[in-house]
Amino acid sequence: MDDTLLRNHRLRQRVQKLVASQQAEHLSVEEARGIAGKIQRKGSQAIQALFDLLFDDENPNNPRLAVMLLSEMNDPKVFERIHELLRRPQLPEKVRVALLAIEAIHENPPASVPTLTRPPAMSLDSLVQFTENFWEAMEMEEIAMMWRENFVAEPPEDRLAVLDMLMKSAHPKMLGIVRLELTLGDLKILQFLAQRLTEFTSPMAAALLESLLAHPDLMVRTSADASLQRWRERAKANPRDDRDSAAEPRFYRAFMAADEWSGHYSLVYAVKCPPNDLIKFIVVLLDRWDRGIIDCWGCVRYSHAEFEDLLAAMAKDFADLHQERITKRTALTLLLKAMDLNRRRKHPVPLEFSVWCHLFENEDIVLDPKVPDFGVDCGVCHKPVRTGPRTAPPWVFADLVICNRCSKRPLRCPLCGGSATLPECFLTREESNHRMDLRCPHCFETFQMPR
Ligand SMILES: [Zn+2]
Ligand SMILES: [Zn+2]
Repeated sequence: MDDTLLRNHRLRQRVQKLVASQQAEHLSVEEARGIAGKIQRKGSQAIQALFDLLFDDENPNNPRLAVMLLSEMNDPKVFERIHELLRRPQLPEKVRVALLAIEAIHENPPASVPTLTRPPAMSLDSLVQFTENFWEAMEMEEIAMMWRENFVAEPPEDRLAVLDMLMKSAHPKMLGIVRLELTLGDLKILQFLAQRLTEFTSPMAAALLESLLAHPDLMVRTSADASLQRWRERAKANPRDDRDSAAEPRFYRAFMAADEWSGHYSLVYAVKCPPNDLIKFIVVLLDRWDRGIIDCWGCVRYSHAEFEDLLAAMAKDFADLHQERITKRTALTLLLKAMDLNRRRKHPVPLEFSVWCHLFENEDIVLDPKVPDFGVDCGVCHKPVRTGPRTAPPWVFADLVICNRCSKRPLRCPLCGGSATLPECFLTREESNHRMDLRCPHCFETFQMPR
């Protein structure tokens, strides 16, 4: 053995030792990132050692850890190695799937690496194995986001074929994918899920079936109904373990930054998840005037320190807007009012939201009266205020909201005949009858708001 080989051998042993002391399911993102960085700095041989762990058949913790750590490395060497391995004809199926998973987790692989053409259909065995081994170390939401990134754009019949394989495991972590598909609402897929959901023991499956009971399609409705009956009979025969309910996420904290003028709220809603008490949270952007929930993203497995860092970074981003901690009640009221507005004004909720709304959907809520109304009408023309990327925000004065059409229209002063737009006039509040009056900028006389 020459010297280089010996050195490489030692380096790889060191990496394996470092990894052997870690448990995949207890690692926070921060810790995983730390270890990944450490290994990355040791060079390509060390990264190579991680890839070797993917082949470990004896200790399932090793391939899981390797997937987690390699997913944290945005290093061209990682992608080169993935593609090199994927070209091997004798590659074990579960390694191949793991490599594809690592690639999928990286949203933006370095541009220098040619994109891989989609692999031929994965075999049933490998997918079931995939769900049971590798996905064990991933959270439901992460799996759903992978589905969002990689499958949602595919035609429904192709998705149905993969869903058929995935749902065989009836693993509760697959339910995030189900949530996405229920929102997308392809009829064939809904009919399939209405039948298949009965095999999941998780109460979330029953809740999802319930949501299908009012579906306009008769077949979806009747399948969901039959599945729900079966689900309930089985649940009665095998009452739930108390540990199950202890495993549900608990509210941790919520924060809000509001831009009163644009009507935008940024809301952070965080829960703690047993058994490790790691933090899962969703960040939602709300438009109070018209569009309700306009954007959202979420994260899992954050440690306390990481979560604090993120909040600090967000507070800095908001600069002049004050980010404050709010109660669970206020946060839920904001979310509910926004969701209601999406429904009323027929603005679709972002698809991602369906993956995350389970963090709070089982909470009982009494609306917080301090949260203002969502979806206002213009104070002049009384039509719903509309907002959008190409629409200027309305003009706001205290609790008066004026759509941008009315606020741009010139008004004629009944006293001096001068012309001015609403924002150019001075507003005065007539306290006795809660009326808003305008003061003409030319003659300074007061006149009534046009109706
Ligand atoms: Zn108006
Ligand atoms: Zn005037």
